Amino acid sequence: MALSDLFTRRPAAPTPPAEDPAPTVWPQIGETWKPEGVTVVQRYYNQAHAVVLVYTASKRYRYGVACLGCHYTKAPSAASDWMELSDAAEAANAHAGTCRALPRDLPARPDDDTVHKLLHTRVREHQNRVTEQEFRIDALDRARLTIQRTNPWIEAALRKLADEHPDLLLVRTSHEDSLRFFVRPYTPAS
Ligand SMILES: [Zn+2]
Repeated sequence: MALSDLFTRRPAAPTPPAEDPAPTVWPQIGETWKPEGVTVVQRYYNQAHAVVLVYTASKRYRYGVACLGCHYTKAPSAASDWMELSDAAEAANAHAGTCRALPRDLPARPDDDTVHKLLHTRVREHQNRVTEQEFRIDALDRARLTIQRTNPWIEAALRKLADEHPDLLLVRTSHEDSLRFFVRPYTPAS
């Protein structure tokens, strides 16, 4: 020991701050979220670090945008309409640049019964008094982060709905062997 050590008063070493216990579960804000039934192709941060997703539900030419901070969504609502990746990316980027909503909880995956009811409602919304309407799974694009189911699951659910409600929904096989669903017009009560 050096002599000077005996006479030099050293400031007490600061006590290290008590460390925050590591959270056992980090808040999931959607940076790695892979909701069932869609492919997330791009993610942006908004001004408060909430994630804005660009996703596609099936075919690669139809994209949608959803903010996991506020409830902003942009996706084609009709099967006849669609959004290219560049348009979706532009919308997501523009939204991320202005949105200040904090990350909200990720949408929970609903149970099967809830999704069956939702599909039933959506099919009924396509019904009119006059003509048969095709119901395409594409029409659900905007709801896919709520539904969180694959296309085959949705197809099976629509077949079940057609079995249970033949007066509402018909299934036909197209010449490419894919299934097509048609909503029947209202029949007047007799
Ligand atoms: Zn937002």
